[in-house]
Amino acid sequence: MVERGKMGNAMTQTDAVSVADQTDAVPASRLPAGIKPPAVMVPVLPTGDAILPLLREMDERHVYSNDGPLNQRFAAALADLLQSRLTTPARLHVATVSNGTVAIELALRLRARRGRFVIMPAYTFIATAQAVTNAGFEPWFTDVDADNWALTPEIAQELIARLPELPAAIVAVSPFGAPIDQRAWNSFEEKTGIPVVLDMAAAALSLDGVGRVPACVSLHATKMLGIGEGGAIVSEDADLIAAARSASSFGFEPGTRLAARRGGNHRISEYAAAVGLTALAHAAEKEFRLKALAKAYRHHLGDAPIDWHAGFGERWVSMTINIGIPAKHVNAVTAGLDERSIPWRRWWSRGCHTHPPFATAPRERLDVTDDLGLRIIGLPFHELLTDDQIALVSETVRKGVS
Ligand SMILES: *Cc1c(COP(=O)(O)O)cnc(C)c1O
Repeated sequence: MVERGKMGNAMTQTDAVSVADQTDAVPASRLPAGIKPPAVMVPVLPTGDAILPLLREMDERHVYSNDGPLNQRFAAALADLLQSRLTTPARLHVATVSNGTVAIELALRLRARRGRFVIMPAYTFIATAQAVTNAGFEPWFTDVDADNWALTPEIAQELIARLPELPAAIVAVSPFGAPIDQRAWNSFEEKTGIPVVLDMAAAALSLDGVGRVPACVSLHATKMLGIGEGGAIVSEDADLIAAARSASSFGFEPGTRLAARRGGNHRISEYAAAVGLTALAHAAEKEFRLKALAKAYRHHLGDAPIDWHAGFGERWVSMTINIGIPAKHVNAVTAGLDERSIPWRRWWSRGCHTHPPFATAPRERLDVTDDLGLRIIGLPFHELLTDDQIALVSETVRKGVS
């Protein structure tokens, strides 16, 4: 029997996004007995009990923000964790900031050349375009690579050879948390002199080949290292990270009341740092659980004629699963999911150029973006999914593509 109008225990952990998806009015006849349609996304962050010891420390200390001891510990521990996952040893530096969007804005402010345009892929979360604009630049949209869904140095190189003026910077993006070739972007920057900033918002656990080019990470609840709201700028460049810390705190140099540069208030509080320190301790387990769920999807979807994001669930995982449906089957798949009240998402919509504020931004041909924007569908993916639910979603997708 499908329970109607009742939320199981698991559902108390849903966020606003998923509560809206949590249908309690599914016609019982359309679902196999006993299986509830899953939520599309359920963040699972450290529990209150787990963070309590650090909150008690704060009670004693009376320090609640301004790069306090918990933030310093969190930034150092995050740098250690990210460093420990690199395939080539490097010394990483981390500045924590209030969110991933601000991380991109600050990195651009600190690094971009003079100029009007920032080259960026049209296929990304809209935050990338908002950050470029907030930092005082106009986006110039490029297409992405059809295989890895990312802007590559080759695409950027080809474009700048044709532009009338050099761009102020380039923002490349990790698609849905997938690793991208960070070494190649570091070489690109050295070779061309054009500053590069990497939007690795969903890729905190997929960083490699970091170098001086900053990787901007989101610590939003829906990302791999979720702390609620937060972000980080990660680089081998200690001076850049010191400048980012300063810019995130009114431009003050540490221990002074003198603004050495332009800046704002983009800090995280000690409360957020307490969640962060606790979350780091569970990052590997979370990654392991999500990889197991990704494998379950791969198993249940079997040989269905769909595109998988290269390496997903094997080399890397993130908080969303995105599959490419053949264009001619997209409507059948989404209608089938809707019929069973299984929520799905185009997490990156149909591309930034389809959002009104960016509709007139200059752009290249966006054939791959338009194709991916139609075909890439996010399925339910989170730690509370059961194997039955994954089987149900997979069977529904298989029906749609058959
Ligand atoms: C989540 C995300 C952002 C924004 O991060 P926030 O912490 O929510 O500001 C930016 N870019 C991409 C690709 C993202 O996935």
